[in-house]
Amino acid sequence: MATLDRKTLLEGLRTELQERIQCYEDHQHRTSGALDKDIEDQALEVQNDEVVERLDDEARTELAQVERALARIDAQVGDRCEECGDPIAPGRLEVLPYTTHCKDCADLQ
Ligand SMILES: [Zn+2]
Repeated sequence: MATLDRKTLLEGLRTELQERIQCYEDHQHRTSGALDKDIEDQALEVQNDEVVERLDDEARTELAQVERALARIDAQVGDRCEECGDPIAPGRLEVLPYTTHCKDCADLQ
């Protein structure tokens, strides 16, 4: 995959993740402070909040990874492994555009 394509793809992914995180935040703010419901409703809401919180965490981790990959592309080392410096296989970048590790190093982690 050409570097430019990968960058465009990652930027699109970054926008999508930022929007998703915003949506989770909106959800969290909307449901906190709702004290006038009966206990059953509250229990459901807490469960829902936990799911949203986990998705929020996942999205933030993914966003950090995308931003890291973009920073490395900007530094002209986007297709190099951050651990050992070897080139990352193009096929691997196609499947995992946000990766910053070659397969060997990723397997070791
Ligand atoms: Zn490596």
